[in-house]
Amino acid sequence: MKQVLTDMAQKGGRDTERDLFWQPGGYVKVLSRKTAGQPCPACGTVIRKEAYLGGSIYYCAGCQAI
Ligand SMILES: [Zn+2]
Repeated sequence: MKQVLTDMAQKGGRDTERDLFWQPGGYVKVLSRKTAGQPCPACGTVIRKEAYLGGSIYYCAGCQAI
């Protein structure tokens, strides 16, 4: 988890909408409030929620999708 947050900070924070189009290779935001507690669509690991930078992030501990 610590590694994920470090990577996210280096890539510009949790708002990755712009990255989807302008920065290939950045985090692709596929998880949301709706997916918390649900299996990851990619690997089946339950999606986790964490507080981060005043908001919340949702991530998969299995494949580190955000
Ligand atoms: Zn996953």
